[in-house]
Order: sequence, then structure tokens, then C-alpha cells
Amino acid sequence: GRLRDKLAATQRSFTRGLSDLLLGNRALDDTLFEELETLLLSADVGVETTRHLVSSITDQVSRKQLKDAPAVYGALRQGMLAILEPCDRRLTIAPERPFVIMVVGVNGVGKTTTIAKLANHLKNKGLTVTLAAADTFRAAAIEQLKTWAGRLDIPVIAQHTGADAAAVVHDAMNAAVARKADVLIVDTAGRQHTQEGLMDELRKIRRVINKTRPDAPHEVLLVLDAGTGQNALSQLKHFREAVGVTGLALTKLDGTAKGGILLAMARQTGLPIRFIGVGEGMDDLREFNAAEYVDALLP
Ligand code: GDP
Repeated sequence: GRLRDKLAATQRSFTRGLSDLLLGNRALDDTLFEELETLLLSADVGVETTRHLVSSITDQVSRKQLKDAPAVYGALRQGMLAILEPCDRRLTIAPERPFVIMVVGVNGVGKTTTIAKLANHLKNKGLTVTLAAADTFRAAAIEQLKTWAGRLDIPVIAQHTGADAAAVVHDAMNAAVARKADVLIVDTAGRQHTQEGLMDELRKIRRVINKTRPDAPHEVLLVLDAGTGQNALSQLKHFREAVGVTGLALTKLDGTAKGGILLAMARQTGLPIRFIGVGEGMDDLREFNAAEYVDALLP
């Protein structure tokens, strides 16, 4: 389906509000800019990014560069693009083999589903994929990954619940080399007894990957639930400090009115937004495209 339809929830509140505000004949007065600010905040664009967008527009209005509401609409679109475009950098699978993608994120954000969708996406590009089930903390995680691997007909390297995650990763690295796999996707724990315990475990996994291949992991992909809004930003900060995130996957954008969170993420972190999740199906992981995203949000 079209991205626009997938983002229906954000569409309903944000887009309709914007049409009323900017596509008619409204005067460019304080009320209009206050309403615009409220709309941006309600879509979870965040205080700082909202101020940045609105003040750039009011500056242009006072310099007589924008004369009516439709011109403000154009300036808003440009402002949103300028924020998102630097983060529109696709994940390219470099020639190194295996290309190692370490996937991190707290439980419940859609990490396992995203891994399955990503594996499917890479497989459809003609690449061979191996999975490593290194979330050994949660019993269901290994089973869930095995189920997906079975459906996608992709090998998965796993041990029992409670096994040493580093040992699983070590095995998986060797298996991926032996099979000449193009890509190894490593699932990791999303919860431990403590937050520090989790970050220690992720650092350990990272070290094991790096010991086997000094240039790996080639990507540390953080999965975040876009519906958790500003909370996702604080998760990002923790993971970034602990394991050095190189790309983001933002899930559940179909079920939230908070699609503006991508603007806050982009402006505050500058990290590449590799993928967006817009549903539970295998085809519901999209490569992020700034222009397509902005056009899906705007009326
Ligand atoms: P994990 O605990 O992070 O591994 O989360 P799961 O991958 O098990 O996903 C948790 C739930 O979120 C499942 O019911 C998924 O189907 C659902 N989910 C994941 N991604 C998306 C998405 O982009 N959109 C929607 N609507 N649901 C999603």
C-alpha cells in the first residue's frame, strides 16, 4: 500500500489540521502560528524542533518572503525536508563478507519482527542471510526467531535459553564465514536484570563480533517504537552511549499519531533513519525516504 495510507493515524490529526490552517485564506497572524505550533507538538515533533520550524517561518514572514498561507505551507515542507534529508541515508551492504548487522532495542519495540522483515528484504535483493539468536535472556525470543527463520527459509544459529550470548555470536560468526553468507543479522537481548547489565551484555557481544572481524559490526541498528514518542529519544541516548548506534529503524508508525517524532530524532541526533515499520506484514518495512515521508504527512 501507499505510505500515505499506512500513516493514517498521523494523517488524521496532523494533516487535516494543516489543511484547515494553510491551504485556505487564513491571515498570517499570531493565532495561525500558535495553532501550527500546537499541531506540530501534538504530532510529537518536540518543543525544540517545533520552535526551530515555526521561528524560521515567522522570520520569513516578517521579511515579507512569505505572503500567504499557501506560501507558509511551502516553507513548512521545505523546513521539514531540510531536517530529514541529512538522515536519509540507506543501509548499503558493503562488499565485506559477512556484512554484520547487530540489532539492538528494548523488548516490545518490534525488534524480532524488524529482523524478520529485514532478512526478507535482503533475501529479496538476492543476498544470503544468516541469523544469530543472541537474545538468550528471554525464552520466547529464540523460538520466535526460529519460527521466522523457518518461514523465510534462512539458517539461524541458536543455543538454549540462558546460554552465553557471546558464545552464540562466536558460533554464528564462524557459521556465517563457513557458509559464505552475505549478511549476518545478530539479534540481541532487549532486557536484563538491570539496565547496566543489558548495556554490558551488548558491549560484550560487540567485542566478540569485533574480535572475529576487526571491521565488524558494520551496522548497529537500533529499533525504536515511534509510538513511544519522546521516550524513544531517551532510549536512543542510552544505546548510543553504550554500543555506538549507526542507524535507526522506527517501528509502528502505522498505529500512531506521533509520526512527527522522526523530525525530532533527525534534528537531535543526525543519525541515519534506515527503515520505518508501517505494519505487521513482511512488506511493511520501508527504506526511509525523506521526501516520500514528508509528502505522506502533508496534505
Ligand atoms: P520485540 O519484543 O522487540 O522483539 O517485539 P516483536 O518483534 O515481538 O513485536 C512486538 C509486536 O509489535 C508484535 O505484535 C509485532 O507484530 C508488532 N509490530 C512490530 N513492528 C510493527 C509495525 O511496524 N507496525 C505494527 N502495527 N506492529 C508492529
